[in-house]
Amino acid sequence: RPEYPRPTSPRVFVVANQKGGVGKTTTTVNIATALALGGLNVLVVDNDPQGNASTALGVEHPPGTKGTYEVLMDQVGIIEHAQPSPHSPNLHVLPASIDLSAAELELVNERGREHRMRDAISTYIDESGVDYVFFDCPPSLGLLTLNALVASTEILVPIQTEYYALEGVSQLMRTINRVKGNLNDNLVLSTILLTMVDSRTNLSREVSEEVRKHFPLQTLDAEIPRSVKVAEAPSFGLPVITHQPKSPGAVAYFEAAREVAMRAKTED
Ligand code: ADP
Ligand code: MG
Repeated sequence: RPEYPRPTSPRVFVVANQKGGVGKTTTTVNIATALALGGLNVLVVDNDPQGNASTALGVEHPPGTKGTYEVLMDQVGIIEHAQPSPHSPNLHVLPASIDLSAAELELVNERGREHRMRDAISTYIDESGVDYVFFDCPPSLGLLTLNALVASTEILVPIQTEYYALEGVSQLMRTINRVKGNLNDNLVLSTILLTMVDSRTNLSREVSEEVRKHFPLQTLDAEIPRSVKVAEAPSFGLPVITHQPKSPGAVAYFEAAREVAMRAKTED
């Protein structure tokens, strides 16, 4: 019996913020792993040519590794190339290698270029019994991110508590509204997570209050503290929640995952 409620229908999250280094990948791998350890079936789609999510989940991705590129360009099924994570059998990873960087340009001239990933996800959902899908996106709003926005029903935005935080969010909101109007009516910005919080600084506290004022329903209560343990975990090929499960960063990510799960529509 899973520790978390199973959602009535699969939840597909795009983890997006066009700023780099705000904690997208760290948030993706930790929340996905926490839900999988809690007994749910989870897929992480590495949608960033850097392949950081693949690395952090212990899945090797040298050039030539089959994964997200093949799904987008050759329309191969996700199930063909999704690999079980070495740490949890019900967590799968669709890896990305640097080859994926070509897709951003190659997709421009393809038919149905914006909804290739949506088609692949809907097939995968039917084949796999997955409960949660997370897309880890690159720091841009190009065709890779667009495919994930079209394939998803919910957006999770990690926000680093620093001065320009909200400027990036308003640009992201404009993109989301364009996608909603044209390509995916079902998309909602459901979840915001404050990351790299340093509660000793006024700035961190002020940004946190500001974000909570703008997005009172979306912002999770849990905040992820800035912590060396979080930063060092990827070098072990592990999310911090398995690398150092008792560290403050891990505890905060477990709490964030629980909040995400408890917000699902469930059968009972
Ligand atoms: P993004 O995917 O948005 O580029 P990452 O998740 O890769 O961001 O995080 C950027 C860098 O900050 C990485 O080196 C990561 O290990 C580090 N990092 C992420 N979250 C924390 C945290 N809570 N405390 C300290 N370092 C962090
Ligand atoms: Mg990243």
